[in-house]
Amino acid sequence: MALYRLYRESLSLLTDLYQLTMAYAHWKNGSHLKEAVFHASFRKNPFGGGYAIACGLSTVVDFISNFRFDESDIKYLQTLKGHDDSPLFEQGFLDYLASMRMSVDIDAVADGTVVFAHEPLIRVRGPIIQCQLLETALLTIFNFQTLIATKASRIREAAGEQSILEFGLRRAQGIDGGLTASLSAYIGGCDGTSNVLAGKLFGIPVSGTHAHSWVMSFDDELESFKAYARAMPNNCVFLVDTYDTIDGVRNAIEAAHWLKANGHKFLGIRLDSGDLAYLSIVARQMLDEAGFQDAAIIASNDLDEKIIDSLNAQNAKISVWGVGTKLVTAFDQPALGGVYKLSAIKNAAGNWDYKVKLSEQAVKISNPGIHQVRRFSNADGYVGDMIFDIEMPASKVPIIVDPLDMTRRKRIAGDAKYQDLLLPIFAGGRQIYDVPTIEASKQFVKAQLEKFHFTYKRLLNPHQYPVGLELSLHELKTDLILKERDPLLNRASKSITRTFQDSSNSSSKNVKQKNGEDPANAATQSADPPVLPENLSKSALLIVDAQKGFGHDGELPVPDGEKIVPVINQLMEIFPFVVASQDWHPADHISFAINHANKKIGDFLKTEFYDQPLFPMHCIENTRGAQFFDGLNTEKINEVFRKGMSPDVDSFSAFNDCTGAEATQLNTVLKKKGIENLFVTGLATNYCVKESALDAVKLGYKVFVVEDAIRGIDLPSNRVKSAIDLMKSKGIAFINSEEFLKTIGKMKSQKK
Ligand code: ZN
Repeated sequence: MALYRLYRESLSLLTDLYQLTMAYAHWKNGSHLKEAVFHASFRKNPFGGGYAIACGLSTVVDFISNFRFDESDIKYLQTLKGHDDSPLFEQGFLDYLASMRMSVDIDAVADGTVVFAHEPLIRVRGPIIQCQLLETALLTIFNFQTLIATKASRIREAAGEQSILEFGLRRAQGIDGGLTASLSAYIGGCDGTSNVLAGKLFGIPVSGTHAHSWVMSFDDELESFKAYARAMPNNCVFLVDTYDTIDGVRNAIEAAHWLKANGHKFLGIRLDSGDLAYLSIVARQMLDEAGFQDAAIIASNDLDEKIIDSLNAQNAKISVWGVGTKLVTAFDQPALGGVYKLSAIKNAAGNWDYKVKLSEQAVKISNPGIHQVRRFSNADGYVGDMIFDIEMPASKVPIIVDPLDMTRRKRIAGDAKYQDLLLPIFAGGRQIYDVPTIEASKQFVKAQLEKFHFTYKRLLNPHQYPVGLELSLHELKTDLILKERDPLLNRASKSITRTFQDSSNSSSKNVKQKNGEDPANAATQSADPPVLPENLSKSALLIVDAQKGFGHDGELPVPDGEKIVPVINQLMEIFPFVVASQDWHPADHISFAINHANKKIGDFLKTEFYDQPLFPMHCIENTRGAQFFDGLNTEKINEVFRKGMSPDVDSFSAFNDCTGAEATQLNTVLKKKGIENLFVTGLATNYCVKESALDAVKLGYKVFVVEDAIRGIDLPSNRVKSAIDLMKSKGIAFINSEEFLKTIGKMKSQKK
């Protein structure tokens, strides 16, 4: 209730005018009750640090519980005019506002929660008019409180177990700036404040003794200390730097002897200027020699986390830090930059339409959906946070994708414990959350920070704590962005449902034929290439992995990968039977580098049967990357064979997996059809095309690779060339589509 005790009237006009004009337009438009979801988040951890301390919920609860437009608010709004001098708002709308009561659902992180950029701090769901009317105040409250709580927490990190007092009121950004800073600084890690009103309103311990003016109002420093000691013997900290600091310490010791002789406790001295490292070391020695080992040395003077860190590194003997200006003004980052974005809205059919805001800067692209944050931990502490959509089914293996860099992904161990950070606060406008005491919130900060590795808490150049979008949310966001950017993509892509093979019987690893060595490499003599058949009645066209994941914007791009599409489309016209393979991996697939600790893309993983090359994540089942290229005439494909579906074995070939076991029914199907000649196209020449073609030779087919309908990955260079040389040495013919089509045309005309 602090907010309304302080301001004593309605705060519903604490908003930007455009919220009210939008609310009015929604009301006129009849769209004001559309159900919407908004999230508040920030885009960058403040102060160049690795985290932030969320703060503001207690004030938000206070604000929303008492939110209403009272008579004086309505009267004021009646006076606002448009440019034609007529009232800005119709009376009917103002009557609506006057009778409006909040009915939103609010979920938010508790005060003191350690949070990171991109994570939602608060989720507001309800009539869009209410969501908008709350925006500005929620951001005002969360942005500043989170900023100051974070600054205080950084100061706490620098000070360790030493006490921190907040003395910032006089330098704060106005009255509320001072009060709010005292509240947030206490939650973030300070032990007390000089701000008496904050003490009264929030219950923060207050502290203070005397200033230079007290000393200067006497002729003599010692006399001033003694006078203060006689007046307040139970609250004696002497400020020793009014004249000469060392003399000041000497005078303080003399006054301290008087206190001791009269049965009182001398609390300590305060240094407010000079070389704090040197002076504190000298003062400590003097105090100890005089028998005042318990006396504190309090330091003030433009302190912040960096100066405190440096003084501690110099072994300064300071036991209490008085921090003011740089804490309450959030030096050197004056604002948090939190935003509040619409992420979903219900359509007329009652379904959610997910919304994404586009921007040229990735950091400004909003996340669609209805979000929750899940924090995972193991015995060592917290390991990663996943932003997920509460309406989407949770994936079995949590994989998170960095919202700014889709190549940064992390798989969370299946046995990790977790907790969800957004807590239910209001349901239908009714408060269902007990706000913890500020003491509890402060303890909460401390307890959580202990579970984060110190590298995330480093003041300078911290490690980036893993935070990401749950994989399916990432895919959904990518799809939405692509659709928004390219209206042509709005055409629903044809889905391929004709799959033959199930992965369940594919992992029969008892076929140990390869034994770590590729028999293809053991070739002793070259075989002759086959000659083209007279007609294509016993021929099939095989399209290997012509998928978006291997396209220019795919996860594992093959240079010019899409260029095979028109060539294949032409070829499909003349073949009586067309088959395609489709890389179709579970998210925890063995071939993904991120699924292996201490491995990176390009490394190899030794397995019992073969060396598994490690790739970026690609062609994950049911995602965009696994879809066939746009423009590929998939209607001509008679059968699709999915491969790589087992998590623990890869499958390059469209026939067999990397252990040599039969992975698909492709051979069975081709044999049943009486196919003798196989024409191979697709991606990538030096992986799946090569392995498919080599397997086909072993299985007795005459194999023709269409050289302009394949592309390879040439890093390091010559891989493609040596793959082609190997295939040629195995009796595989390389043909060019144009010549081939001409030849077939000639054959047909000769027949006539
Ligand atoms: Zn693959």
